[in-house]
Amino acid sequence: MTTDPGFLAGLRGLAREHADLLRPTALGLDADPSLGPALLGTDPRWLRLTGMPAAYNPDPLRVGGRPVYVDRCVEQVVVMEELARVDAAAVLALPGPSMSGFVVADIADEEQRDRYYQRLADRPTWTFFGMTEPAHGSDPASMGTALRPADDGREGLLLNGTKRFVGNGARAGIGVVFARRHPGPLGVVAVLLETDRPGFTGIPLETLGLRGLQLSELRMRDVPVADADVLGRHRPATRGGMWAAVRTFNRYRPVVASFALGVAQGAHDYVVANRRQLGSGERDLLADLADRLAGTRATVMAAAESADHDPRDGTLASAAKIRATALAEESTLLALRMFGPGARWEHPLLDKWARDARAFEFMEGTSNVQRLTLAQGHLNGSLGDVRPAA
Ligand SMILES: Cc1cc2nc3c(=O)[nH]c(=O)nc-3n(C[C@H](O)[C@H](O)[C@H](O)COP(=O)(O)OP(=O)(O)OC[C@H]3O[C@@H](n4cnc5c(N)ncnc54)[C@H](O)[C@@H]3O)c2cc1C
Repeated sequence: MTTDPGFLAGLRGLAREHADLLRPTALGLDADPSLGPALLGTDPRWLRLTGMPAAYNPDPLRVGGRPVYVDRCVEQVVVMEELARVDAAAVLALPGPSMSGFVVADIADEEQRDRYYQRLADRPTWTFFGMTEPAHGSDPASMGTALRPADDGREGLLLNGTKRFVGNGARAGIGVVFARRHPGPLGVVAVLLETDRPGFTGIPLETLGLRGLQLSELRMRDVPVADADVLGRHRPATRGGMWAAVRTFNRYRPVVASFALGVAQGAHDYVVANRRQLGSGERDLLADLADRLAGTRATVMAAAESADHDPRDGTLASAAKIRATALAEESTLLALRMFGPGARWEHPLLDKWARDARAFEFMEGTSNVQRLTLAQGHLNGSLGDVRPAA
């Protein structure tokens, strides 16, 4: 029912109204990402767009009178594309569940769910998803962050390690850290952690693109962890931290693709609105771009439907991310070229969007890594028979 085109058009219209609220903040947030909480944390309307579950969301969006919780991938890609047309960095810098919410929704027990969502409902709270490490990148097999029993007679566990390139890390109040508790692939667990614990530090990193997201390094030195903080502790190890992480990637990659698509569409629209007297060659380029935007939107929607149907299969999610990421880079660079030398100075929004577009390549795995997933999915038959007719 949610994929009914009329419903999605209504949702898109509502998202567009919210996107207008981001226009005045885009360049200010880019210049000084520490302004994020002041610029974006005060308006409770954002919480309705970030996937808060019904029990914690008394004032949901309504489309045709029906409440919408933006908790399905198809809903998220429509909403996020519209917001990203104005400012992807600001959307990513909003308080709310973000990626860690998928893990909590999948494997937290009732008490952990309540601890996480009630905090988000009570006050503007940023969250984080801590996977990538400075020495091991995003390869979970070689994860160095460790969760071990305290060896000095203290009760409980201690968390030690460093995570890097974590969105909103330095401004977050709560989030999920992945750590190794035992050797082997099933030894990685997800820990629900408040950032005011002793031994936990979040340090903002300097970046060129998506600056509003405030990528951060998280340092954990003997951070105390209780058994009650380990997500999925009541479940078998095969349905624990790594299982939830893979499902999160498969569901969030279409959303990252929708951010990239929004930036690509925003750049196209900027040229149409601001360039007078296009030459015929330029009109052809823009028409070609418009076609590819429509094709990419269809791919992103197919990936979102697949993720809602079966989050174990990330084949289409990877396809959508590869395509949308490339288009965001191409579209923003084309737009800059169409305004000639000096465009980056004279059109600071375009300059910002071109810098932001580069970040999607790395977020949630590089295109090389997506190609590996896509190839695997093709070999497994996930894409059906896509061979061209002889
Ligand atoms: C804007 C942004 C937001 C982010 N947010 C978060 C976050 O919230 N939480 C978090 O934990 N992380 C986050 N990250 C980190 C991100 O997930 C990683 O940077 C990304 O997955 C790439 O991993 P890596 O940097 O370890 O590079 P690697 O995976 O080490 O890759 C390095 C290079 O090697 C290539 N490569 C790697 N493996 C292969 C292979 N098998 N075959 C061919 N080529 C290969 C890659 O394409 C790349 O060019 C974020 C990054 C960005 C840019």
